[in-house]
Amino acid sequence: MHLEDSHGRSFHYLRLSITEACNFRCSYCLPNGFSKPANACRPLSVQETSNLVSGFAELGFWKMRLTGGEPTIRSDILEVIEAVARTPGIRQVALTTNGYRLRKIARELRDAGLHSLNVSLDSLDSDRFREITGQPRLSEVMDGIDAALVAGIPSVKVNAVLLRGVNEQDLGSFIELAKETPIGIRFIELMRTGQNEEYFLRHHLPVGALQFRLARSGWKPLEKRAGDGPALEYGHSDYRGRIGVIAPYSREFCRSCNRLRVSSQGGLRLCLFGEGDFPLRTLLQSPSQKGELVDTVRALIDRKPESHLLHQGKFGNASTLAAIGG
Ligand code: SAM
Ligand code: SF4
Repeated sequence: MHLEDSHGRSFHYLRLSITEACNFRCSYCLPNGFSKPANACRPLSVQETSNLVSGFAELGFWKMRLTGGEPTIRSDILEVIEAVARTPGIRQVALTTNGYRLRKIARELRDAGLHSLNVSLDSLDSDRFREITGQPRLSEVMDGIDAALVAGIPSVKVNAVLLRGVNEQDLGSFIELAKETPIGIRFIELMRTGQNEEYFLRHHLPVGALQFRLARSGWKPLEKRAGDGPALEYGHSDYRGRIGVIAPYSREFCRSCNRLRVSSQGGLRLCLFGEGDFPLRTLLQSPSQKGELVDTVRALIDRKPESHLLHQGKFGNASTLAAIGG
């Protein structure tokens, strides 16, 4: 089976937020830290997650990314990864993390079945790192990245959000990191959310200047392979790592969309910048509900919009990316 929408896009990649909570205070995401909403329910259990993933695998999904909030805050993170990795049909389990526990658990993550790891790291300077995240933990995160490479997690990437006037001076050091290390560096353009208007206006840095810089220093765009998502990838013969650019404001971005999202409470989000979620949790209570879950997602897919409306200043009801699983 495979899931396609009325705009000819097919979907095989699910981003699953497994908690809204986070221990960092990134200035563009949760500058005041996480506070539990009054009406908060517990996140999906391991069994509910397993039922969800099994339904999506039936629909042809083979790549699952666990995100949040900070997914490694969950004490059962290894069980969650194991449950996802052993679901028939799932070929890749990925995790996006701020890296704070990585030094301790990199090997266990790999043993649980993790294939791909994205570590968020917005500066290689310890003072700037602390300013951005509210945490003096750059060296721990760097050690965590080394631990992930040593543990043999097959794909390790660094995500850096481009921030005007904050980390522009780090771009050169990030690119150098790819010289000797087989690591992907992903630069993400800052996105507007409900809570970051003022910050966005001050620090949004379009990716064009970075792309010009890459082209000038010999980085070549790599051809997209079937199933690749919206990231633009660049390679260079003198570098072991690759550079990726995520440009959500580009006109092309939504055309190659291959993903859906599910919130930590089991809400299906068709577009990151959409207006709401479709609750699936009642369909996750028993493996016997798989057929109903599959039919429900099939019925909803044509409501996925052709494109977000970020260029018109409309960003849906995303208050922060931590809340909906960025
Ligand atoms: N806590 C984990 C982390 O930071 O990797 C996972 C969740 S976080 C919401 C996922 C990614 O979204 C991170 O790479 C973060 O830098 C990015 N992000 C958060 N808010 C963003 C925004 N407004 N614009 C662009 N990227 C953002
Ligand atoms: Fe937490 Fe990730 Fe948001 Fe930073 S970007 S505050 S680490 S959820």
